[in-house]
Amino acid sequence: MKVDLHTHSTISDGRLTPAELLREAESRGIELFSITDHDSVDAYSKIGQLEHAGVRLIHGIEFSTAWQGIGIHIVGLNVDIDCQVLGNGIALQRKARMERAQRISGKLDKLGMENTWKRVQEIAGQSVIGRPHFAQCLVESGKVKNENEAFKRYLGPGKTGDIKCLWMSMEQTIHCITDSGGIAVLAHPSSYRLTNTRLARLLDDFASCGGVAMEVISGQQTREVTEKLARLCQLKDLYASSGSDFHRPGQAWSELGGQASLPVACKPVWELWP
Ligand code: AMP
Ligand code: MN
Ligand code: MN
Ligand code: MN
Repeated sequence: MKVDLHTHSTISDGRLTPAELLREAESRGIELFSITDHDSVDAYSKIGQLEHAGVRLIHGIEFSTAWQGIGIHIVGLNVDIDCQVLGNGIALQRKARMERAQRISGKLDKLGMENTWKRVQEIAGQSVIGRPHFAQCLVESGKVKNENEAFKRYLGPGKTGDIKCLWMSMEQTIHCITDSGGIAVLAHPSSYRLTNTRLARLLDDFASCGGVAMEVISGQQTREVTEKLARLCQLKDLYASSGSDFHRPGQAWSELGGQASLPVACKPVWELWP
């Protein structure tokens, strides 16, 4: 079965509108699909009653969270998007994002940019504001040549724009997802560059807070990474998920639904939704 359970639309930092994304999923023959915007489920109200024959849509979201001072992303799948608990969590995250964005703006202004706060709000428009919008701002100002350099020099781990951390805790986030009827999935586990010991500890904490699945496949990754994550997933008795983390056509790491399939030894997370 072709699945993609981690994608972004213009509601956050993706390039396609929710409707375009759904059309694309349909035309690529994706059977099980989720739009998981950063800290928002607004994509689903935009899609409304749009027909999507052949595509089973799972309501999802990607939360930014904090665990031991590290930013960890947790995907919530099959959440009730009208649930008040979810709404409250989203509201907290929105506030954190605004505060963070103001702080980043102040810091970038100190480094010689001008009116960053005003400009970044214009760039983000209606979208959930995030670091990619700052990256665009930095490119525009000529400070960097491209988005990649913006993250490398200003926005990535340990740099000016890497603000710690106003997010909900991982535990709070997992409870928010679970109380909204969803299941919590640890997103792209290999992206945090943790040692094996630390990653195992993260998974233990994640599971003891009620997390039930991890992305064994995220975008394009080496076979070694897949094998390691599949082993960990089995060891910790978690379900396995798979997503492209699609943001825009032509992105380096995977097209929509273009990621590898799950290793057969893993229990697919979709077994939870017969
Ligand atoms: P935020 O949600 O504001 O913390 O921003 C995180 C988002 O920035 C990720 O979801 C990616 O879309 C994007 N991102 C993170 N690292 C990079 C990078 N090195 N180059 C380009 N985009 C990145
Ligand atoms: Mn993103
Ligand atoms: Mn993420
Ligand atoms: Mn993502």
